[in-house]
Amino acid sequence: MDIYRDDVCAVCGESLPPDHIYCREHAATVDDRLHEIAALVPRVLDDLGRLATLLCQVADETWDYVAEQDPAEPEWPPVPHVTVHADGDAVNVDVGGEPGMVRVDLDVALPVLLRALVAGVDTDELRRMAARCAEVEGANATH
Ligand SMILES: [Zn+2]
Repeated sequence: MDIYRDDVCAVCGESLPPDHIYCREHAATVDDRLHEIAALVPRVLDDLGRLATLLCQVADETWDYVAEQDPAEPEWPPVPHVTVHADGDAVNVDVGGEPGMVRVDLDVALPVLLRALVAGVDTDELRRMAARCAEVEGANATH
């Protein structure tokens, strides 16, 4: 999937004649894509918020316990590496706050941001962590 450009179909990348913005096939399904976006946005936002809350509600010792169930004994939860390719004007770095901390503000298009996030977060390790979380029993017993 490419970011939308105006000389090709935004879905399949087929070259287009003047005054066309989608190929014939994908022009017929614009409503479907918009409806799918409408369904996904609230779901993803709700799920992401809930996931962030839950991750904050698990103690380091509990993550250690879950990680011990894995043969590789990883450090969990994994720290994602996120890279955003952005115009310099879209990035503001503030080093003036807390010592040792920086604040990075990004003004980037939503698909760019979401792709960078997914690329950083959607790893085999996080999926393995989720699988271990699903089967864990007695995580409260050690505390
Ligand atoms: Zn197309």
